[in-house]
Amino acid sequence: MNPTWQFSDGTTLPVGTMYCIGRNYAAHAREMGAEVVPDPIVFIKPPAAYRANNSQIQLPSFSSDVHHEVELVIVIGGSTERCDPSDAWNYIAGLTVGIDFTARDIQTAAKKNGHPWAVAKSWAGSAPCGPVIPARECGRGPWNLSLSVDGAMRQQGSTADMERSVEELVSYLASVFTLQPGDCIFTGTPEGVGPVMSGQRVVAHLVSLVTLTIDIA
Ligand code: MN
Repeated sequence: MNPTWQFSDGTTLPVGTMYCIGRNYAAHAREMGAEVVPDPIVFIKPPAAYRANNSQIQLPSFSSDVHHEVELVIVIGGSTERCDPSDAWNYIAGLTVGIDFTARDIQTAAKKNGHPWAVAKSWAGSAPCGPVIPARECGRGPWNLSLSVDGAMRQQGSTADMERSVEELVSYLASVFTLQPGDCIFTGTPEGVGPVMSGQRVVAHLVSLVTLTIDIA
């Protein structure tokens, strides 16, 4: 059975497909030795990658270099296969903050060999997300993101620096995949990604809206 999104007003939705966008912040693309490309880079995590706030995450045995990536997460509330960016908010149920945990060593090898990122990105527990704030309470941005590890600030960014906006991402993904209620979009990470270790506490903020606390087992 799929896990469920917990909204701050008590409503729930089953977690669907988790779409994730790569290189949506130029400064993060640069720190990875890469460039922003014309079309969005898209990968997918299954619902089993989801973890709720206050969960403990087991690092995968096949990696020795798991990195945190703090991201604005859009939770979809309506079904659409075609939507103009100006209509995107009609299909957004709410926003939250998520961490796109990435087995960087596995991803680097996959990139070098031209292989997919699924194992590096989509393992069980790789997509913890906070409680969802209903769209009517989110404003329309920009929003600030931050992430600390054991109290030390590691990432701070603004969605104003995204290469593609919330509205453009919803429109693009709808046209390719069809979006369904409970699907979500990880919108990419600002710079400052780095490793997490066993026993550490990771705290992510969608500033003034959501806090997500995750313990690394
Ligand atoms: Mn990411």
